[in-house]
Amino acid sequence: MVGAIDKNNIFNNRPFIISGPCSAETEEQLISTAIQLASNGKVNLLRAGIWKPRTKPGMFEGVGTIGLKWLQEAKKISGIPTTVEVATHKHVEEALIHDVDVLWIGARTTVNPFFVQEIADALKGVDIPILIKNPINPDLELWCGAVERMQKSGLNNIALIHRGFSSFGNTKYRNAPMWQLPIEMKRRFPSLMMICDPSHICGNRSLLQDVAQKSINLDFNGLMIETHIDPDNAWSDANQQITPGQLEIILDNLKWRSVNAEEELLNSLLNKLREQIDQTDDELISLLSQRMKLADEIGFYKKEHNITILQTERWNNILERLSTKAEQMGLSKAFIKNYFEAIHLESINHQNKIMNG
Ligand code: PEP
Ligand code: MN
Repeated sequence: MVGAIDKNNIFNNRPFIISGPCSAETEEQLISTAIQLASNGKVNLLRAGIWKPRTKPGMFEGVGTIGLKWLQEAKKISGIPTTVEVATHKHVEEALIHDVDVLWIGARTTVNPFFVQEIADALKGVDIPILIKNPINPDLELWCGAVERMQKSGLNNIALIHRGFSSFGNTKYRNAPMWQLPIEMKRRFPSLMMICDPSHICGNRSLLQDVAQKSINLDFNGLMIETHIDPDNAWSDANQQITPGQLEIILDNLKWRSVNAEEELLNSLLNKLREQIDQTDDELISLLSQRMKLADEIGFYKKEHNITILQTERWNNILERLSTKAEQMGLSKAFIKNYFEAIHLESINHQNKIMNG
């Protein structure tokens, strides 16, 4: 039997591990997965999709409300609190009636402010923790918007899930991680827990360990990983699901970063180095500003003498001279080219303003 769940502190466990099947398929499948996960003793929340947003019609779209009864039973037997994906007002109501402990908003819902608002309205005055996945497209504002809509509805217990971003063409990942986006999200909402979902980032089993470790290295607070008693025969996302036993191996192999004495020493060293980086960056900015002032002076000269802004030969010479120099100093040619192209573009913009001014 499950004890009372302290919903206000549910996200305080670190690492916070969410696992369970992509979809609830049968009562037996869900309960056996939950029992195996419980025997690992490492899972804080049992997930299962009941209503599945599928890309194409005709694919398995979830078992619907009956699955919520199976989840209740799975919680009773395994003792693990539960979470389901909700996308509509009706989903929210059904989930609440069936004592689901935590709700999650999926990537295909976060993209749509109508649906997010519908969920927020349905949750007004309800005290339930909620997980918000990033939108499928790399739009940070939509992700922030979803958080703000929930906060406006009075939900305080919010955590974020990074599940990667859809991109055109073949990449090694099903959804590109684009780590800079969750990092920026962490910066904007420092008090919210950030969980990584390696399953939907990878789309296959072989990359799960690497992606999970990468997220831990970036100070993420936990993981959502899909598990199934018979992954190869799963009705959805078969390629990326693993058995509860395989999950245990992945979790055991992870190097969790903890703050201990050794680490504190390392941190103070890191802080010193970071201070130096900050100083160097400040110097770079003032050098760039000096460079831009010189470009402005040249701009005035060009205007006075009616000379074109872009002098291709001069620009080629600059690039050639700098890439040789950069290489001697351990910087890649490609990086220096990108860097100076950006600087050059800014100079041209400045000079254009001068010409048109
Ligand atoms: C899921 O977790 O099964 C799911 C549908 O995920 P996402 O919303 O990240 O695609
Ligand atoms: Mn899935």
